[in-house]
Amino acid sequence: MSQHAECTAVDRRTFLSAAAGAGAAVVAGEFCDGLEGPAYKFEPVRIPDWVYGVSRMAFLSPGEVDRAASLGVQVVHGNAVWPYFPLKRDGGGLSKDDEHTLRSFVAGCHQHGMKLCLGLPPFPPAALVEKHPDWRVHPAESAQLKPPDDKNLGTRMGCNAGPWGDYLIDVCAELVEDFGLDGFSFDGNYHPPICFCPHCRESYRTEEGKPLPPRADMDDLAYRKYLVWRGEKLEQHYAKMQKRLKAVNPDAVLMSWTVNAGRYGHFLHLPRAMPTRLNLLFDLPMQEWWLDEANLGASAAPAFGAAYLRATTGNRPAACEPYLMSRGNPYGTDSFPAHERLARTFLAVTNGALAAQSLGWPGHAESAAAALKETARRDTWVLRARPLPWAAMLVSEQTRQFFAYKNVQEFFLPHVFGVFRAAMEEHLPLNLVNDWDLESDRLRQFRVLVLPASAALSDDQVEAVRRFVESGGGLVATGEASLCDELGRPRRDFALADVFGVPYQGRPGRTLKTPARSDSGTVPNEEFWKLRSGVARLSWQEHALVSDPRLKDLVPHKSATFRGPLVAIGEPTRSGEVAMRMTLDGASSHAALPAAIARTCGKGRVVYLAAGIDAALWSYAYPYQRRLLARAIAWAAGEPLPISVEAPMCVQATFFEQSDGPRRRTIIHFFNGLNTAAGHGLPATEVPLREETVPVHGVRVRFAGEAPKKLHVEPGGETPKITRAGDATIVELPPLPLHYLLVVEG
Ligand SMILES: [Zn+2]
Repeated sequence: MSQHAECTAVDRRTFLSAAAGAGAAVVAGEFCDGLEGPAYKFEPVRIPDWVYGVSRMAFLSPGEVDRAASLGVQVVHGNAVWPYFPLKRDGGGLSKDDEHTLRSFVAGCHQHGMKLCLGLPPFPPAALVEKHPDWRVHPAESAQLKPPDDKNLGTRMGCNAGPWGDYLIDVCAELVEDFGLDGFSFDGNYHPPICFCPHCRESYRTEEGKPLPPRADMDDLAYRKYLVWRGEKLEQHYAKMQKRLKAVNPDAVLMSWTVNAGRYGHFLHLPRAMPTRLNLLFDLPMQEWWLDEANLGASAAPAFGAAYLRATTGNRPAACEPYLMSRGNPYGTDSFPAHERLARTFLAVTNGALAAQSLGWPGHAESAAAALKETARRDTWVLRARPLPWAAMLVSEQTRQFFAYKNVQEFFLPHVFGVFRAAMEEHLPLNLVNDWDLESDRLRQFRVLVLPASAALSDDQVEAVRRFVESGGGLVATGEASLCDELGRPRRDFALADVFGVPYQGRPGRTLKTPARSDSGTVPNEEFWKLRSGVARLSWQEHALVSDPRLKDLVPHKSATFRGPLVAIGEPTRSGEVAMRMTLDGASSHAALPAAIARTCGKGRVVYLAAGIDAALWSYAYPYQRRLLARAIAWAAGEPLPISVEAPMCVQATFFEQSDGPRRRTIIHFFNGLNTAAGHGLPATEVPLREETVPVHGVRVRFAGEAPKKLHVEPGGETPKITRAGDATIVELPPLPLHYLLVVEG
């Protein structure tokens, strides 16, 4: 496996092509490097080195600084002041009281060697809005805006694509300069669904050559193009802010709240309030990490959320702040077990994020101390580690936003969650990747790529996948993968039909073909979605993909009933490529259609699943579905994973690499997700509120080939029991409490 490339600029050619395809004419103006140029070039912000050393952040009030220091906090987040008007350079600035508060807050943190990120509410004061009414967000074409009022935030929404964006940057730069602040976070400062302020109207006309679309309407292609454009304006705003802050102090940062990187509820938010790629313009994005019932806290969703946040940063630091509410409805923090805080902390860490702790939860002073202490004990093996590249799954924001927007919960999430769950329970190293990662140089490091019904792919992305497979990469694709372009407009066939070895033929048993492509209309249409799910009987064929003893145990008769998304495909040229067939409910078995194709293409192996096994494993979950998905990934990978973990399904194992000078380490996290309440609660409202952990015995890791030089379990440094079996090394780990790491020194 090749070494990761450090996160670099998104490939310019890929981006420009995607932008052109999205109808986003090239944007002129200052960006990132400050050059006036004809092209908008997206570049992730270069983050200061100190950020890589952060594992302990906390949210607190100015009065809690000493306590935070005694708990080992490295970065303090806190609120103290609001944006002021006028600017200091124009004779304004903070009031005397605010100035005093902020100065002593900063001094207190710095005295203890802690950084201070100020939580700055991104709202203009009423006095500013009164003077510049055109700086406000104008949500409708002819909106009657209420007079600004300091007590009503709704009357103080500034448009960051206009002069307010630049004003906010000025305020931040002055605060860094005058007070020595280390950075900011904003709870807000995204973009509205649409804005008709004079500045937005004018820039859209100048840059795109047309008026704004009439309203926020995902069905309207003109609006989708606007949304891409507005996302780029937000990126440009943040790039400009970063450039300005880092000119004042190269170590200044934006460690800000993200709303497009993993929390379950955020996935359902449409139209989006920020592009996913904006996470690359934060030095460290943070998410409020809710494990309540609305965010499906008792499922794989929170683990996915932490892993996805990390993935959106190109594997730089990212933080989850575990919310300590007992329930979402009724909302309450009165009975939250201290042990659950540790469990949430290590679930985040296991999935590659750092857990940021709030010191303000009532009754949780001790649990905060314990979480921070246990975090620090793992620093050596957690900081600067990168996921082991083996399997990659695309989490396609384009698909979520522009294809599945009519019902993200049903048309998008089950596919990605199903694959994630299968990898989690089968202990396979799964990296999540983004739309912009579908690029030859980045894909090369992986053995296998999974496209879970990733419908919205650009021609360039498709070409990168094709090249990846031809040169030996494995591919597992399901459902409508590659059926549409990056804005969700259907193609006549899968763009990857040649790689899948079969053409798209609509819905099984129906006459529906791909809705005709139209540049003005909205497709896929209602009919397309109505016919998407069905019931069929799956039958395994004679193929290595389904020849598996565990699958045989789970489905002795090699045939199972399936309900879920179904796609009709043609027969492959070689009949031996059909690994599974499906007979529609009520049809004769002679009319069985291909349900799984497994074939080679160039030097790579490809599995295409016309029956949405991935979605089914999330939506109702038969065990055979997990095993089939794991088989598909392993078969497509072509060669077995050199490290395999044997543990119950409640144990999540994640795989990282780390360099220590010339030495390389492999680090495997083990998280014990067992809930001793054993699913006794009402499923729809169940949330994890763990009061204890039952240690899991019998966790083993098998290393193929040469024996690892040195192994230890951390924290604690225990050496596990090691035996040789043939040409493999078997490592027997001690009973797993909540979390530990196996460190393999290379
Ligand atoms: Zn505007």
